[in-house]
Amino acid sequence: MNAFRVGFGYDVHQLQEGQAFWLGGIHIPHTKGAVGHSDADVLVHVICDALLGAANLRDIGYHFSDKDPKYKGIDSKILLKDVIHLLDEAGFVIGNVDSTICLQVPKINPHIPEMKTCLAEVMGISEGQLSIKATTTEKLGFVGREEGVSAYCVVLINQKG
Ligand SMILES: [Zn+2]
Repeated sequence: MNAFRVGFGYDVHQLQEGQAFWLGGIHIPHTKGAVGHSDADVLVHVICDALLGAANLRDIGYHFSDKDPKYKGIDSKILLKDVIHLLDEAGFVIGNVDSTICLQVPKINPHIPEMKTCLAEVMGISEGQLSIKATTTEKLGFVGREEGVSAYCVVLINQKG
């Protein structure tokens, strides 16, 4: 098996008025929030999917079914910790993570340092291994109409030993 493996993740959640908005492991003050079975943290979900993909361990829905009541409203950081454990068991360590959040409003850049601190700790990596970027979609599409939030992530993982 190759020592280095790459993984990719993509996810979308609807935004609705009056929902708490969890993104990158932290609460974002906003009139709308993401909707989902869990806390609907789209950034944490794409990181989970990219890591699982890199290790060829299926996807987040396979491990944490949205039909299972035990995951209702769950903090997605708990799922990320479980994914890190799965990778560890499979003999992998994280090289680096690069991600992009697509959201029209509010501005995410001021929140990125706190997201990095939070998620690097959950993943047991340094902040230097975790890149989080943000973009609007120039008011185009469902993101631009403020109907949803999406995210993309790529990761590199290494085989231990
Ligand atoms: Zn999701």
